[in-house]
Amino acid sequence: MPFWDKEMETLPRAELEEMQVKRLKATIARSQRSVFYRTRLKEIDESRFNKPEDVALLPFTTKTDLRNNYDFGLVTVPKNEIIRMHASSGTTGKATVIFHTRKDIETWAELVARCIVMTGAGKGDVFQNIISYGLFTGGLGLHYGAEKVGMLTIPSGVGNTKRQIQLMKDFKTTVFHATPSYILYVSEVMVEEGYDPNGFDLRIGFVGAEPHSEKTRQRIEDTFDIDAYNSYGMSELNGPGVAFECEEKNGMHLWEDRYLLEVVDPRTGEELAPGEEGELVVTTLDREAMPIIRYRTGDLARIVDEGERCACGRTHVRISRIKGRTDDMLIVKGVNLYPSQIEDVLMSFPEVAATYQIVLKRESSLDTLTVRVELNPKLFDGDLRKLKKLEYEITKNIQDEIEVRPTVEFHEPGSLPRSEGKAVRVIDLRGEL
Ligand code: AMP
Ligand code: ZN
Repeated sequence: MPFWDKEMETLPRAELEEMQVKRLKATIARSQRSVFYRTRLKEIDESRFNKPEDVALLPFTTKTDLRNNYDFGLVTVPKNEIIRMHASSGTTGKATVIFHTRKDIETWAELVARCIVMTGAGKGDVFQNIISYGLFTGGLGLHYGAEKVGMLTIPSGVGNTKRQIQLMKDFKTTVFHATPSYILYVSEVMVEEGYDPNGFDLRIGFVGAEPHSEKTRQRIEDTFDIDAYNSYGMSELNGPGVAFECEEKNGMHLWEDRYLLEVVDPRTGEELAPGEEGELVVTTLDREAMPIIRYRTGDLARIVDEGERCACGRTHVRISRIKGRTDDMLIVKGVNLYPSQIEDVLMSFPEVAATYQIVLKRESSLDTLTVRVELNPKLFDGDLRKLKKLEYEITKNIQDEIEVRPTVEFHEPGSLPRSEGKAVRVIDLRGEL
């Protein structure tokens, strides 16, 4: 089984935790050089930190803190040591900007290299990075890691789908990186263009940047006849390379020599028992330009098999698939639900294509939930009786899952909007009506 940094990836837990404490202390000291943490951590005495859990003695950092301290408020180095800036892809409010020194970029690439090699990809592979380059971290993040491990890297970016397919064909791409929604769209265009998505040289896909269900992963795997691995990260914590699946596909290893993880109750901020689902809170452990302490990621997940060694041999903690963001939660007729629950049901019907939309409206003060789906033209022959039956089954299965009865609407294949970046799944019109 291949490793990029075997010693670090399989470090015994006691040593890993010792390293975390040492790095946490150093991070606290360093962060106090920034305008923001100098005040925030004024009274903190580093000698009180003796185990990783002691991180809970520190205050949280939120996205609002980052916004309020735009632009250089969290930076701990002279400006001329910064060599890169990125920003979060958030569409609301002021952007969140992140800075890196040369060493930070190097460390980030190392982490991504670990992730790549962990899936069985590496030197000799042709890697097509089908994701946005620019302020978004997905493009350059994977790019540097891919070059480090020695893959032939094609920075194809996102969009221009026919050209993506041409590149895959001409250069015999074996590994890609994409959002789940975009890569499934690529498969539709392949079919339109007369190709069989199964007939390329692809063998591995890295999919991430947005929530997707296990069923969606299976669909990607079946469509292209590949292994697909979940990739998790965010610009505030570098970008991709925070947590990634190994060949076991049973949770994503989060690199604990670089990140200290907590899972808290999103309402109270209290630490949860191991295995409970909550909000991921992460502290960077060796970032130079912009250390972040106890960052409220807004992402919901749980720890899988804490402390138990994964069959791959790595000792670093595994987190579950991300269920969604705390702010993705929808309250419909008083019921809390996540779009990913609906997606899971939809993707279990092969007759349904990958693009869908959830539309919420309020009619005479009652919430309505409509799920718009497209039929898969290959698997649906237009028989009306079958259509009725399918509608009934999808409606029932969604209702069983979320306890709200949806209206299921069928749309022409290709008629719902596609996105090249993170897909927009929910249209909430309740405030407007
Ligand atoms: P950005 O900083 O713009 O890259 O956005 C990061 C956010 O994208 C994370 O906080 C998550 O909400 C989401 N995200 C990234 N990777 C995944 C993934 N593998 N599964 C689910 N959500 C993800
Ligand atoms: Zn593993």
